[in-house]
Amino acid sequence: MKTIDDYNFEGKKALIRVDFNVPLDGDFNVTDTSRIEAAKPTILKVLEDGGSAVLMSHLGRPKGKVNPDMSLSHIVETVSDIIGVEVKFTNDCVGKEADDAVAKLEEGEVLLLENLRFHDEEEAGDEAFSEALAKHGDIYVNDAFGTAHRAHASTTIVAQFFPNNKCFGYLLAKEIDAIAKVMQTGEKPVTAILGGAKVSSKITIIENILDKVDNLIIGGGMTYTFIKAQGGKVGNSICEDDKMELALDILKQAKAKNVNVYLPVDVLAADDFDNNANTQFVDVDKIPDGWQGLDAGPKTLEIFKQVILASKTILWNGPVGVFEMESFAKGTIAVGNYIDEATQSGAFSLVGGGDSVAAVKQFGFDDKVSYVSTGGGAMLESLEGRTLPGIAAILD
Ligand code: AMP
Repeated sequence: MKTIDDYNFEGKKALIRVDFNVPLDGDFNVTDTSRIEAAKPTILKVLEDGGSAVLMSHLGRPKGKVNPDMSLSHIVETVSDIIGVEVKFTNDCVGKEADDAVAKLEEGEVLLLENLRFHDEEEAGDEAFSEALAKHGDIYVNDAFGTAHRAHASTTIVAQFFPNNKCFGYLLAKEIDAIAKVMQTGEKPVTAILGGAKVSSKITIIENILDKVDNLIIGGGMTYTFIKAQGGKVGNSICEDDKMELALDILKQAKAKNVNVYLPVDVLAADDFDNNANTQFVDVDKIPDGWQGLDAGPKTLEIFKQVILASKTILWNGPVGVFEMESFAKGTIAVGNYIDEATQSGAFSLVGGGDSVAAVKQFGFDDKVSYVSTGGGAMLESLEGRTLPGIAAILD
């Protein structure tokens, strides 16, 4: 696996795909700079070697049309502040203006290209457009995990124009390492905690990780499909009746593969999907009619705790309750605390995919786990066992 450390950028232009798809407020101020901070080490390495950096990214979903609201010009100042270099900007990512700006770029300088998705060709993975982008650099560096699952021009196709000069930036390399630690090289016991709303959105992940984990903790809305399939009463809880057979099959597969499955045994049930609803703790398989399970109960959390604290490698994807409502966030917070404790005792913990990162950030666990993935969809697809096109293009 070639990373940026395998290259010396002295006198070279690095064409770096970053993920600067950052949130902006009504006055176009960047409200969360973490993606820019995350790309900083890669950019600094190039500059410190004596090279220059041409940065390319998308912002929002302009769908192939120029849209001033989604111009990357809004973030130039913020990027300059974070990198510590005055960043130059071009109003288009290809064409004469971009070519001229790249030609003028000197050692130690940084140029940010306008939003790639102002061109249809970006998402279409157009070859001629990719070739036009490729002219901007001597070495291609992909540091955008969040788009690595897309075969777009700047994430995948452009790599073919750098047969011997392409590599992963630090951020993408860290993501690949973290996934490998969980899926291939993790110290045992390996535990996956899967929560979230629906079995249907996690099924491919579950099937893929059954070969890789020792323990599988299932929580959140997914629980009730499993419980009902086993003959339990789930009241009004979220449940996918058409996935019950699949749920039983997963339990059978897990048994055959010697994976211990832990489902909730008690839950906090509510008489409405509302923060102020009446609540009671009930056995997971005896939820009264009109009530729905919205968080894990104390007996369940005690079991989850023992399993998590005994784990050496932990993957967390999805909340174990409706964490957006304070009344039903305690289970998710408790799980975060157990993972924190296990991590402090030496376990490797990875959080990622879909909404998990939002929950982790909301409760301040992002500094307490070993690694928080920067890519929701890309992480989900990695956990499903798929090879991401952006990663494959560098390895090719
Ligand atoms: P996902 O994106 O699949 O990880 O799902 C996250 C969503 O699952 C969050 O918005 C939670 O509110 C929701 N969720 C978790 N537990 C439950 C539950 N018991 N009932 C309904 N929704 C839930």
